[in-house]
Amino acid sequence: MPKEGPKEGPGKGPGKGSRKGPRTAIAGGGIGGLATALSLARHGHDVVVLERRDCFTELGAGIQLGPNAFHALDVLGVGDVVRERAVHIDELRFMDGTTGEKVVSMPLTGAYRARFDNPYAVVHRIDLYEPLLAACRAEPSVQLRNDCSVAAYEQDAGGVTVRLTSGELIHADALIGADGINSTVRRQLVGDGPPQVSGHTIYRSVIPMEQVPEELRWNTVTLWAGPKWHFVHYPIGGGEFFNLAATRDDAATEAVLGVPVRRDRVLAEFPSLGTTARRLLELGRDWKSWVLCDRDPVDRWTDGRVVLVGDAAHPMLQYAAQGACQALEDAVVLGELAGTEPADFAQRFEKFNAERRERTAATQLLAREMGRQLYHPAGEAAKARNAMLRALSEDDLYGKVQWLHGGRAGTASAPGAVPVVRATA
Ligand SMILES: Cc1cc2nc3c(=O)[nH]c(=O)nc-3n(C[C@H](O)[C@H](O)[C@H](O)COP(=O)(O)OP(=O)(O)OC[C@H]3O[C@@H](n4cnc5c(N)ncnc54)[C@H](O)[C@@H]3O)c2cc1C
Repeated sequence: MPKEGPKEGPGKGPGKGSRKGPRTAIAGGGIGGLATALSLARHGHDVVVLERRDCFTELGAGIQLGPNAFHALDVLGVGDVVRERAVHIDELRFMDGTTGEKVVSMPLTGAYRARFDNPYAVVHRIDLYEPLLAACRAEPSVQLRNDCSVAAYEQDAGGVTVRLTSGELIHADALIGADGINSTVRRQLVGDGPPQVSGHTIYRSVIPMEQVPEELRWNTVTLWAGPKWHFVHYPIGGGEFFNLAATRDDAATEAVLGVPVRRDRVLAEFPSLGTTARRLLELGRDWKSWVLCDRDPVDRWTDGRVVLVGDAAHPMLQYAAQGACQALEDAVVLGELAGTEPADFAQRFEKFNAERRERTAATQLLAREMGRQLYHPAGEAAKARNAMLRALSEDDLYGKVQWLHGGRAGTASAPGAVPVVRATA
Protein backbone atom coordinates (compact mmCIF):
# COMPACT_ATOMS: atom_id res chain seq x y z
CA MET A 1 0.00 0.00 0.00
CA PRO A 2 1.16 3.60 -0.50
CA LYS A 3 3.77 4.70 1.96
CA GLU A 4 5.04 8.12 2.92
CA GLY A 5 8.46 8.71 1.47
CA PRO A 6 11.11 10.32 3.66
CA LYS A 7 11.44 14.04 3.26
CA GLU A 8 14.22 15.20 1.03
CA GLY A 9 16.68 17.83 2.15
CA PRO A 10 16.72 21.38 0.84
CA GLY A 11 19.35 22.34 -1.65
CA LYS A 12 20.59 25.31 -3.47
CA GLY A 13 20.69 24.25 -7.07
CA PRO A 14 20.45 21.41 -9.51
CA GLY A 15 22.21 18.14 -8.74
CA LYS A 16 23.63 17.06 -5.41
CA GLY A 17 27.00 16.03 -6.78
CA SER A 18 29.69 18.07 -8.45
CA ARG A 19 28.45 20.33 -11.23
CA LYS A 20 29.70 18.86 -14.43
CA GLY A 21 26.75 18.70 -16.80
CA PRO A 22 24.09 21.21 -17.73
CA ARG A 23 21.79 22.20 -14.88
CA THR A 24 18.28 20.98 -15.50
CA ALA A 25 15.25 21.66 -13.33
CA ILE A 26 12.23 19.37 -13.45
CA ALA A 27 8.86 20.58 -12.18
CA GLY A 28 7.03 17.58 -10.69
CA GLY A 29 8.24 14.38 -9.06
CA GLY A 30 5.60 11.95 -10.33
CA ILE A 31 6.37 8.89 -12.46
CA GLY A 32 7.20 11.10 -15.45
CA GLY A 33 9.37 13.55 -13.50
CA LEU A 34 11.44 10.89 -11.75
CA ALA A 35 11.90 8.82 -14.90
CA THR A 36 13.02 11.95 -16.76
CA ALA A 37 15.41 12.90 -13.94
CA LEU A 38 17.00 9.48 -14.12
CA SER A 39 17.23 9.53 -17.86
CA LEU A 40 18.76 13.01 -18.07
CA ALA A 41 21.19 12.30 -15.23
CA ARG A 42 22.38 9.18 -17.04
CA HIS A 43 22.98 11.38 -20.08
CA GLY A 44 25.16 13.85 -18.24
CA HIS A 45 22.70 16.37 -16.76
CA ASP A 46 22.85 17.74 -13.25
CA VAL A 47 19.18 17.56 -12.25
CA VAL A 48 16.97 19.02 -9.54
CA VAL A 49 13.41 17.71 -9.19
CA LEU A 50 11.03 20.27 -7.69
CA GLU A 51 7.98 18.60 -6.15
CA ARG A 52 5.22 20.67 -4.61
CA ARG A 53 4.07 17.98 -2.18
CA ASP A 54 5.75 17.56 1.20
CA CYS A 55 7.27 14.21 0.26
CA PHE A 56 7.99 12.05 -2.74
CA THR A 57 5.32 9.41 -3.05
CA GLU A 58 2.60 8.18 -5.40
CA LEU A 59 -1.06 8.02 -4.50
CA GLY A 60 -3.66 5.77 -6.06
CA ALA A 61 -4.13 2.11 -6.74
CA GLY A 62 -3.24 -0.29 -9.54
CA ILE A 63 -1.75 0.49 -12.88
CA GLN A 64 -1.31 -1.61 -16.03
CA LEU A 65 2.02 -1.57 -17.82
CA GLY A 66 2.47 -2.69 -21.41
CA PRO A 67 5.70 -4.11 -22.81
CA ASN A 68 6.53 -0.63 -24.11
CA ALA A 69 6.71 0.59 -20.50
CA PHE A 70 9.02 -2.27 -19.57
CA HIS A 71 11.31 -1.50 -22.49
CA ALA A 72 11.60 2.06 -21.19
CA LEU A 73 12.12 0.86 -17.61
CA ASP A 74 14.89 -1.45 -18.84
CA VAL A 75 16.66 1.47 -20.45
CA LEU A 76 16.32 3.37 -17.17
CA GLY A 77 17.80 0.41 -15.31
CA VAL A 78 14.78 -0.43 -13.13
CA GLY A 79 12.97 -2.95 -15.34
CA ASP A 80 14.00 -5.98 -13.27
CA VAL A 81 12.77 -4.55 -9.96
CA VAL A 82 9.42 -3.53 -11.40
CA ARG A 83 9.01 -6.89 -13.15
CA GLU A 84 9.71 -8.64 -9.83
CA ARG A 85 7.01 -6.69 -8.00
CA ALA A 86 4.49 -6.90 -10.84
CA VAL A 87 1.77 -9.47 -11.39
CA HIS A 88 2.32 -11.01 -14.80
CA ILE A 89 -1.20 -11.66 -15.93
CA ASP A 90 -2.33 -14.32 -18.38
CA GLU A 91 -4.83 -12.42 -20.50
CA LEU A 92 -6.85 -9.28 -21.10
CA ARG A 93 -10.46 -10.41 -20.89
CA PHE A 94 -13.41 -8.47 -22.31
CA MET A 95 -16.82 -9.48 -20.90
CA ASP A 96 -20.34 -8.35 -21.67
CA GLY A 97 -21.17 -6.97 -18.24
CA THR A 98 -24.92 -7.32 -18.65
CA THR A 99 -25.16 -10.88 -20.00
CA GLY A 100 -22.01 -12.08 -18.23
CA GLU A 101 -20.68 -13.68 -21.44
CA LYS A 102 -17.04 -13.62 -22.38
CA VAL A 103 -16.69 -11.66 -25.62
CA VAL A 104 -12.99 -11.96 -26.36
CA SER A 105 -9.70 -12.40 -24.57
CA MET A 106 -6.17 -11.60 -25.61
CA PRO A 107 -3.60 -14.07 -24.23
CA LEU A 108 -0.51 -12.36 -22.82
CA THR A 109 1.74 -15.38 -22.44
CA GLY A 110 3.42 -17.51 -25.18
CA ALA A 111 3.02 -15.80 -28.54
CA TYR A 112 2.42 -12.35 -26.99
CA ARG A 113 5.60 -12.51 -24.93
CA ALA A 114 7.57 -13.79 -27.88
CA ARG A 115 6.24 -11.02 -30.09
CA PHE A 116 6.65 -8.10 -27.68
CA ASP A 117 9.64 -9.36 -25.75
CA ASN A 118 8.36 -8.15 -22.39
CA PRO A 119 5.32 -8.82 -20.19
CA TYR A 120 2.02 -7.02 -19.93
CA ALA A 121 1.77 -6.67 -16.16
CA VAL A 122 -0.10 -4.92 -13.37
CA VAL A 123 1.45 -3.24 -10.35
CA HIS A 124 0.50 -1.15 -7.42
CA ARG A 125 1.57 2.37 -8.39
CA ILE A 126 4.02 2.49 -5.53
CA ASP A 127 5.73 -0.62 -6.95
CA LEU A 128 6.53 1.39 -10.05
CA TYR A 129 7.28 4.64 -8.25
CA GLU A 130 9.59 3.33 -5.51
CA PRO A 131 12.16 1.77 -7.84
CA LEU A 132 12.32 5.03 -9.80
CA LEU A 133 12.67 6.99 -6.55
CA ALA A 134 15.38 4.66 -5.19
CA ALA A 135 17.31 4.96 -8.46
CA CYS A 136 17.07 8.78 -8.32
CA ARG A 137 18.26 8.78 -4.70
CA ALA A 138 21.21 6.62 -5.68
CA GLU A 139 22.11 8.88 -8.59
CA PRO A 140 24.65 11.56 -7.53
CA SER A 141 23.48 13.95 -10.24
CA VAL A 142 19.84 14.02 -9.08
CA GLN A 143 18.66 16.23 -6.26
CA LEU A 144 15.12 15.78 -4.97
CA ARG A 145 13.39 18.75 -3.36
CA ASN A 146 9.92 18.53 -1.83
CA ASP A 147 7.77 21.52 -0.79
CA CYS A 148 8.81 23.27 -3.99
CA SER A 149 5.84 24.46 -5.99
CA VAL A 150 6.79 25.94 -9.35
CA ALA A 151 4.91 29.16 -10.07
CA ALA A 152 6.43 30.44 -13.31
CA TYR A 153 9.54 30.63 -15.45
CA GLU A 154 11.46 33.22 -17.41
CA GLN A 155 14.20 32.60 -19.90
CA ASP A 156 16.84 34.49 -21.84
CA ALA A 157 19.94 33.54 -23.79
CA GLY A 158 21.70 32.59 -20.55
CA GLY A 159 19.15 30.06 -19.30
CA VAL A 160 15.89 29.61 -17.42
CA THR A 161 14.88 31.10 -14.10
CA VAL A 162 12.25 29.11 -12.26
CA ARG A 163 10.19 30.93 -9.66
CA LEU A 164 8.70 28.94 -6.81
CA THR A 165 5.56 30.00 -4.98
CA SER A 166 7.83 30.63 -1.95
CA GLY A 167 9.56 33.34 -3.99
CA GLU A 168 12.79 31.37 -4.34
CA LEU A 169 14.45 31.60 -7.74
CA ILE A 170 16.24 28.64 -9.27
CA HIS A 171 18.57 29.17 -12.20
CA ALA A 172 19.01 26.37 -14.67
CA ASP A 173 20.00 25.68 -18.25
CA ALA A 174 16.68 24.00 -18.97
CA LEU A 175 13.27 23.38 -17.41
CA ILE A 176 11.20 20.23 -17.90
CA GLY A 177 7.51 20.53 -17.02
CA ALA A 178 6.51 17.15 -15.59
CA ASP A 179 3.85 18.64 -13.37
CA GLY A 180 0.84 16.65 -14.53
CA ILE A 181 -2.49 17.39 -16.15
CA ASN A 182 -2.92 20.73 -14.35
CA SER A 183 0.64 21.74 -15.16
CA THR A 184 1.68 25.24 -14.21
CA VAL A 185 4.47 25.11 -16.78
CA ARG A 186 1.96 24.15 -19.48
CA ARG A 187 -0.35 27.01 -18.48
CA GLN A 188 2.44 29.43 -19.33
CA LEU A 189 3.78 27.49 -22.31
CA VAL A 190 0.61 26.30 -24.10
CA GLY A 191 -2.08 28.33 -22.35
CA ASP A 192 -4.96 26.08 -23.34
CA GLY A 193 -7.00 26.56 -20.18
CA PRO A 194 -8.29 23.91 -17.82
CA PRO A 195 -8.46 20.24 -18.83
CA GLN A 196 -11.66 18.78 -20.31
CA VAL A 197 -13.86 16.98 -17.83
CA SER A 198 -14.66 13.51 -19.20
CA GLY A 199 -18.11 13.30 -17.61
CA HIS A 200 -17.13 9.86 -16.29
CA THR A 201 -16.85 9.02 -12.59
CA ILE A 202 -14.51 6.22 -11.60
CA TYR A 203 -14.85 4.42 -8.26
CA ARG A 204 -11.77 2.57 -7.03
CA SER A 205 -11.11 0.16 -4.20
CA VAL A 206 -8.22 -2.13 -3.23
CA ILE A 207 -8.94 -5.13 -1.01
CA PRO A 208 -6.80 -7.97 0.35
CA MET A 209 -6.83 -10.98 -1.98
CA GLU A 210 -7.95 -13.31 0.79
CA GLN A 211 -11.32 -11.55 0.72
CA VAL A 212 -11.84 -12.65 -2.90
CA PRO A 213 -13.48 -16.08 -3.29
CA GLU A 214 -10.93 -18.48 -4.79
CA GLU A 215 -12.99 -19.17 -7.90
CA LEU A 216 -12.89 -15.43 -8.74
CA ARG A 217 -9.13 -14.96 -8.32
CA TRP A 218 -8.41 -14.79 -12.02
CA ASN A 219 -4.92 -13.89 -13.14
CA THR A 220 -6.31 -11.50 -15.75
CA VAL A 221 -7.22 -7.90 -16.33
CA THR A 222 -10.96 -8.35 -16.75
CA LEU A 223 -13.23 -5.65 -18.14
CA TRP A 224 -17.03 -5.90 -17.93
CA ALA A 225 -18.66 -3.53 -20.41
CA GLY A 226 -22.22 -2.27 -19.96
CA PRO A 227 -24.45 0.60 -21.12
CA LYS A 228 -22.62 3.77 -20.07
CA TRP A 229 -20.45 1.92 -17.58
CA HIS A 230 -17.57 -0.50 -17.33
CA PHE A 231 -15.88 -2.33 -14.50
CA VAL A 232 -12.24 -3.48 -14.43
CA HIS A 233 -10.42 -5.65 -11.89
CA TYR A 234 -7.04 -7.29 -11.53
CA PRO A 235 -4.58 -8.52 -8.88
CA ILE A 236 -1.78 -6.20 -7.70
CA GLY A 237 0.91 -6.06 -5.01
CA GLY A 238 2.50 -9.35 -6.08
CA GLY A 239 -0.98 -10.92 -5.93
CA GLU A 240 -1.70 -9.88 -2.33
CA PHE A 241 -4.32 -7.31 -3.28
CA PHE A 242 -7.24 -7.04 -5.65
CA ASN A 243 -7.82 -3.79 -7.53
CA LEU A 244 -11.39 -2.80 -8.46
CA ALA A 245 -12.27 0.16 -10.70
CA ALA A 246 -15.84 0.82 -11.83
CA THR A 247 -16.61 3.71 -14.18
CA ARG A 248 -19.90 5.37 -14.98
CA ASP A 249 -20.71 7.82 -17.74
CA ASP A 250 -22.80 10.07 -15.49
CA ALA A 251 -22.17 13.42 -17.19
CA ALA A 252 -20.20 14.67 -14.16
CA THR A 253 -19.15 18.24 -14.78
CA GLU A 254 -16.39 18.83 -12.26
CA ALA A 255 -13.02 17.15 -11.76
CA VAL A 256 -12.87 15.05 -8.56
CA LEU A 257 -9.73 13.53 -7.07
CA GLY A 258 -9.97 10.62 -4.68
CA VAL A 259 -13.06 11.56 -2.65
CA PRO A 260 -14.33 8.78 -0.32
CA VAL A 261 -17.72 7.35 -1.35
CA ARG A 262 -20.11 5.06 0.55
CA ARG A 263 -20.24 1.46 -0.62
CA ASP A 264 -24.04 1.44 -1.05
CA ARG A 265 -23.79 4.47 -3.33
CA VAL A 266 -21.25 2.68 -5.55
CA LEU A 267 -23.44 -0.43 -5.74
CA ALA A 268 -26.46 1.68 -6.62
CA GLU A 269 -24.60 3.24 -9.55
CA PHE A 270 -24.29 -0.13 -11.34
CA PRO A 271 -27.76 -1.72 -11.25
CA SER A 272 -27.45 -3.68 -14.51
CA LEU A 273 -24.33 -5.69 -13.63
CA GLY A 274 -24.62 -9.44 -14.24
CA THR A 275 -24.29 -11.90 -11.35
CA THR A 276 -20.53 -12.53 -11.31
CA ALA A 277 -19.59 -8.93 -11.95
CA ARG A 278 -21.98 -7.92 -9.18
CA ARG A 279 -20.37 -10.38 -6.74
CA LEU A 280 -16.99 -8.86 -7.54
CA LEU A 281 -18.19 -5.28 -7.17
CA GLU A 282 -19.74 -6.13 -3.81
CA LEU A 283 -16.31 -7.08 -2.50
CA GLY A 284 -15.13 -3.47 -2.65
CA ARG A 285 -14.67 -1.45 0.54
CA ASP A 286 -13.38 2.06 1.26
CA TRP A 287 -14.29 3.29 -2.21
CA LYS A 288 -12.94 6.55 -3.54
CA SER A 289 -14.14 8.45 -6.58
CA TRP A 290 -12.45 10.40 -9.35
CA VAL A 291 -13.87 12.37 -12.24
CA LEU A 292 -11.18 12.22 -14.85
CA CYS A 293 -10.05 14.75 -17.40
CA ASP A 294 -7.91 14.89 -20.49
CA ARG A 295 -6.94 17.45 -23.10
CA ASP A 296 -6.96 17.69 -26.86
CA PRO A 297 -3.57 16.93 -28.38
CA VAL A 298 -1.47 20.00 -29.19
CA ASP A 299 1.31 20.20 -31.73
CA ARG A 300 3.79 22.10 -29.67
CA TRP A 301 4.97 21.65 -26.11
CA THR A 302 8.33 23.39 -26.19
CA ASP A 303 9.30 26.99 -25.61
CA GLY A 304 13.01 27.57 -26.08
CA ARG A 305 14.72 25.69 -23.28
CA VAL A 306 11.46 24.62 -21.66
CA VAL A 307 9.68 21.40 -22.59
CA LEU A 308 6.79 19.31 -21.24
CA VAL A 309 6.68 15.54 -20.66
CA GLY A 310 4.08 13.02 -19.46
CA ASP A 311 0.62 14.22 -18.48
CA ALA A 312 1.74 17.84 -18.68
CA ALA A 313 2.32 17.33 -22.42
CA HIS A 314 -0.32 14.78 -23.43
CA PRO A 315 -2.79 13.90 -20.66
CA MET A 316 -5.12 11.08 -21.61
CA LEU A 317 -8.01 9.14 -20.17
CA GLN A 318 -7.01 5.85 -18.57
CA TYR A 319 -8.94 3.67 -21.04
CA ALA A 320 -5.92 2.65 -23.09
CA ALA A 321 -3.87 2.18 -19.86
CA GLN A 322 -1.02 4.13 -21.41
CA GLY A 323 -0.55 7.49 -19.62
CA ALA A 324 2.33 6.32 -17.44
CA CYS A 325 3.70 4.11 -20.23
CA GLN A 326 3.93 7.15 -22.51
CA ALA A 327 5.52 9.25 -19.75
CA LEU A 328 8.22 6.56 -19.40
CA GLU A 329 8.80 6.55 -23.15
CA ASP A 330 9.08 10.36 -23.07
CA ALA A 331 11.74 10.14 -20.38
CA VAL A 332 13.90 7.77 -22.38
CA VAL A 333 13.56 9.64 -25.64
CA LEU A 334 14.22 13.04 -24.05
CA GLY A 335 17.33 11.68 -22.31
CA GLU A 336 18.68 10.40 -25.58
CA LEU A 337 17.85 13.51 -27.55
CA ALA A 338 18.62 16.37 -25.19
CA GLY A 339 22.40 16.35 -25.48
CA THR A 340 24.46 18.34 -22.99
CA GLU A 341 25.05 21.59 -24.81
CA PRO A 342 22.69 24.26 -23.43
CA ALA A 343 22.88 26.30 -26.62
CA ASP A 344 21.35 23.35 -28.49
CA PHE A 345 18.51 22.64 -26.07
CA ALA A 346 15.83 24.63 -27.87
CA GLN A 347 16.44 22.81 -31.12
CA ARG A 348 16.80 19.41 -29.44
CA PHE A 349 13.60 19.86 -27.44
CA GLU A 350 11.80 20.63 -30.68
CA LYS A 351 13.11 17.41 -32.11
CA PHE A 352 11.86 15.56 -29.03
CA ASN A 353 8.46 17.21 -29.50
CA ALA A 354 8.39 16.15 -33.14
CA GLU A 355 9.42 12.57 -32.29
CA ARG A 356 6.73 12.18 -29.66
CA ARG A 357 3.81 14.25 -30.95
CA GLU A 358 2.15 11.84 -33.32
CA ARG A 359 2.40 8.74 -31.15
CA THR A 360 1.16 10.42 -27.97
CA ALA A 361 -1.66 12.26 -29.78
CA ALA A 362 -2.84 8.98 -31.31
CA THR A 363 -2.84 7.41 -27.84
CA GLN A 364 -4.83 10.32 -26.35
CA LEU A 365 -7.48 9.98 -29.06
CA LEU A 366 -7.52 6.18 -28.85
CA ALA A 367 -8.20 6.36 -25.12
CA ARG A 368 -11.24 8.58 -25.70
CA GLU A 369 -12.56 6.33 -28.44
CA MET A 370 -12.15 3.20 -26.35
CA GLY A 371 -14.42 4.72 -23.72
CA ARG A 372 -17.06 5.73 -26.24
CA GLN A 373 -17.04 2.91 -28.77
CA LEU A 374 -15.79 -0.15 -26.92
CA TYR A 375 -16.68 0.16 -23.27
CA HIS A 376 -19.97 2.03 -23.02
CA PRO A 377 -22.32 1.18 -25.94
CA ALA A 378 -25.83 -0.14 -25.25
CA GLY A 379 -28.37 -2.27 -27.13
CA GLU A 380 -27.70 -2.88 -30.84
CA ALA A 381 -24.41 -0.98 -30.69
CA ALA A 382 -23.21 -3.30 -27.93
CA LYS A 383 -24.24 -6.35 -29.97
CA ALA A 384 -22.36 -5.02 -33.00
CA ARG A 385 -19.29 -4.38 -30.84
CA ASN A 386 -19.42 -7.90 -29.45
CA ALA A 387 -19.72 -9.38 -32.95
CA MET A 388 -16.79 -7.28 -34.17
CA LEU A 389 -14.59 -8.35 -31.22
CA ARG A 390 -15.57 -12.01 -31.48
CA ALA A 391 -14.47 -12.08 -35.10
CA LEU A 392 -10.90 -11.14 -34.18
CA SER A 393 -8.29 -13.90 -34.08
CA GLU A 394 -5.42 -13.84 -31.60
CA ASP A 395 -3.19 -12.60 -34.37
CA ASP A 396 -5.67 -9.85 -35.29
CA LEU A 397 -5.66 -8.70 -31.66
CA TYR A 398 -1.87 -8.60 -31.51
CA GLY A 399 -1.84 -6.70 -34.79
CA LYS A 400 -4.18 -4.06 -33.35
CA VAL A 401 -1.97 -3.36 -30.31
CA GLN A 402 1.31 -3.71 -32.20
CA TRP A 403 1.90 0.01 -32.68
CA LEU A 404 1.33 0.69 -29.00
CA HIS A 405 2.60 -2.34 -27.06
CA GLY A 406 5.41 -2.87 -29.55
CA GLY A 407 6.86 0.63 -29.08
CA ARG A 408 10.49 0.53 -28.09
CA ALA A 409 11.74 3.81 -26.74
CA GLY A 410 15.46 4.25 -26.58
CA THR A 411 16.97 1.34 -28.37
CA ALA A 412 20.19 3.32 -28.45
CA SER A 413 21.56 4.35 -25.07
CA ALA A 414 24.77 6.18 -25.79
CA PRO A 415 24.70 9.92 -25.09
CA GLY A 416 23.86 11.75 -28.26
CA ALA A 417 22.59 8.66 -30.05
CA VAL A 418 19.48 8.93 -32.16
CA PRO A 419 16.36 7.95 -30.19
CA VAL A 420 13.88 5.51 -31.58
CA VAL A 421 10.28 4.78 -30.76
CA ARG A 422 9.31 2.15 -33.23
CA ALA A 423 6.97 -0.76 -33.37
CA THR A 424 8.67 -4.12 -33.50
CA ALA A 425 7.39 -7.13 -35.38
C1 LIG B 1 -7.68 6.09 -12.63
C2 LIG B 1 -6.43 6.11 -13.44
C3 LIG B 1 -5.94 4.93 -13.95
C4 LIG B 1 -4.79 4.92 -14.72
N1 LIG B 1 -4.32 3.74 -15.20
C5 LIG B 1 -3.20 3.72 -15.95
C6 LIG B 1 -2.69 2.50 -16.44
O1 LIG B 1 -3.25 1.44 -16.20
N2 LIG B 1 -1.53 2.52 -17.18
C7 LIG B 1 -0.87 3.70 -17.46
O2 LIG B 1 0.17 3.68 -18.11
N3 LIG B 1 -1.35 4.90 -17.00
C8 LIG B 1 -2.48 4.92 -16.26
N4 LIG B 1 -2.95 6.12 -15.78
C9 LIG B 1 -2.27 7.37 -16.15
C10 LIG B 1 -1.06 7.66 -15.27
O3 LIG B 1 -1.42 7.61 -13.92
C11 LIG B 1 -0.51 9.04 -15.60
O4 LIG B 1 -0.41 9.18 -16.99
C12 LIG B 1 0.88 9.23 -14.99
O5 LIG B 1 0.81 9.09 -13.61
C13 LIG B 1 1.41 10.61 -15.36
O6 LIG B 1 2.59 10.85 -14.66
P1 LIG B 1 3.20 12.33 -14.63
O7 LIG B 1 4.42 12.22 -13.80
O8 LIG B 1 3.28 12.89 -16.00
O9 LIG B 1 2.09 13.22 -13.88
P2 LIG B 1 1.58 13.13 -12.38
O10 LIG B 1 1.52 11.73 -11.92
O11 LIG B 1 0.34 13.94 -12.30
O12 LIG B 1 2.73 13.84 -11.53
C14 LIG B 1 2.86 15.24 -11.50
C15 LIG B 1 3.65 15.62 -10.27
O13 LIG B 1 3.89 17.01 -10.31
C16 LIG B 1 3.60 17.59 -9.06
N5 LIG B 1 3.24 18.99 -9.32
C17 LIG B 1 2.09 19.47 -9.83
N6 LIG B 1 2.15 20.80 -9.97
C18 LIG B 1 3.38 21.17 -9.53
C19 LIG B 1 4.05 22.42 -9.44
N7 LIG B 1 3.46 23.58 -9.81
N8 LIG B 1 5.31 22.45 -8.94
C20 LIG B 1 5.93 21.29 -8.55
N9 LIG B 1 5.34 20.08 -8.61
C21 LIG B 1 4.08 20.02 -9.12
C22 LIG B 1 2.49 16.74 -8.49
O14 LIG B 1 2.40 16.84 -7.08
C23 LIG B 1 2.91 15.34 -8.96
O15 LIG B 1 3.79 14.73 -8.05
C24 LIG B 1 -4.11 6.14 -15.00
C25 LIG B 1 -4.59 7.34 -14.48
C26 LIG B 1 -5.73 7.32 -13.70
C27 LIG B 1 -6.21 8.63 -13.15
